Amino acid sequence: MSATLLAAKALLEQLQKAGHRGFVVGGFVRDRLMGRPTGDLDIASPARPDQIEALFPRVHATGLSHGTVTIMVDDLPVEHTTFRAEGHYSDHRHPDTIRFVSTIEEDLARRDFTVNAIAWDPLEDCLIDPFNGAADLEARKLRAVGVAEERLREDALRILRAVRFASTHDLVLVDSLAAALRAMGPLLRNIAVERIEDELDKLLARSERPSIGFRLLAELQLLDVILPEFVPMMGQAQNRHHAYDVWNHTLAVLDACPSQPTALRWAALFHDLGKPVTAEPHPDNEGEFRFFGHEQVSMDLTEQIGQRLKFSKARQRRVGQVVAHHMIHPSEAWGDSAIRRLLRKLPGEDLDDFLAFKRADLTGKGTDDVDDLLKKVDVIEARLRNQRAAGHALSRRDLRMSSQALMDLAGRPGGPWLSALQNHLLEAVLEQPDCNEPERLRVLAIDWLQNHPIS
Ligand code: ATP
Ligand code: MG
Repeated sequence: MSATLLAAKALLEQLQKAGHRGFVVGGFVRDRLMGRPTGDLDIASPARPDQIEALFPRVHATGLSHGTVTIMVDDLPVEHTTFRAEGHYSDHRHPDTIRFVSTIEEDLARRDFTVNAIAWDPLEDCLIDPFNGAADLEARKLRAVGVAEERLREDALRILRAVRFASTHDLVLVDSLAAALRAMGPLLRNIAVERIEDELDKLLARSERPSIGFRLLAELQLLDVILPEFVPMMGQAQNRHHAYDVWNHTLAVLDACPSQPTALRWAALFHDLGKPVTAEPHPDNEGEFRFFGHEQVSMDLTEQIGQRLKFSKARQRRVGQVVAHHMIHPSEAWGDSAIRRLLRKLPGEDLDDFLAFKRADLTGKGTDDVDDLLKKVDVIEARLRNQRAAGHALSRRDLRMSSQALMDLAGRPGGPWLSALQNHLLEAVLEQPDCNEPERLRVLAIDWLQNHPIS
């Protein structure tokens, strides 16, 4: 038995002794029924937050206004929510009022989807499943609890939760839910961008094939609301190097990216965004398109959308780097110095991202030569890793002549000239690693300084 389940049982036993019958609820029950690894543990009981605080030594008030507290069991946080029902929703996101109720059935009725509205009592090993969520799970169906349209109108975040669960759990939307999602889509404008980013991020991180979710977003016209920049990719034809149009290629790359780091999957979504804007018919090949400079447009759009979705600085940078580098195509013909110049652009984990993305991007072409192309990436990877392991200078910091030594040599204080000189020295060292000796750098620096007098 898992440590989480043991913790749940121990908690529920303690609650039972105090006269409250509690249940495991939410994703834990759903995922357990599906035989999938599960995330956090949520429990529900009629005990009020103050009663929970009195019963357990370590309790944090995480969502007190909704009756939620977090009980710490060793290092494991367990969310306890008092059975509750919800009043009217006027902002399409939060109930105006909540009230505590006494039965688990009433509590389950406020939950979003039938598969999320199953309670399990592990002490008696019985399910409380008034909306037949277990049967829906078995049939791989996603269905709203109650009238779909009303439930989505109450809380528009459920629109994205539906798409997320369909994608992560490979569930098919029942017709009534699909129709309601389409009709209620515009309500997503009421949802904070942070929540939208969070849902999309979970979809990307937890789906075996995130294309399922993104196809749904497109079909249900939700992309028009949250990511309108994506719409022109649909139907944008490419050329003989691609089996798919830009949109289907994007989705194929998305599925071919590993789930971690999620930045790769975000980059997959963005990398060809600039293609529709830059598309021009090929002058010689009928029906084919060229996309000169599309990566710059993709980078600009990545920046814009990242800002709108409030990406963290780290994510913005990481995704941007992958998009920026996706049109670099190293070939066997490259010399070692070209390999080192590329390494200069790919410090730290950027190299891993570049390689993982390259493989996904090639896979997403959908052409017959993919295996050959991937073998070439293996060869390039070995060369990149060898050059990196050799410890050659790859950045200005690695030069064996300090900034101070260069300033002393020039007799000038630091300024833009200094980085220009260091770049010049680094270029020489990338070309020929032997040059990274103080004496040789000194000779090169004197030469450069003579050609670049103070202006
Ligand atoms: P996971 O934790 O894997 O993301 P989950 O289903 O446990 O999935 P949580 O956000 O942890 O999702 O919520 C726990 C439960 O609370 C859900 O299973 C659902 O029953 C209910 N719930 C959460 N958010 C909503 C919502 N916006 N509307 C209605 N019910 C919700
Ligand atoms: Mg959960």
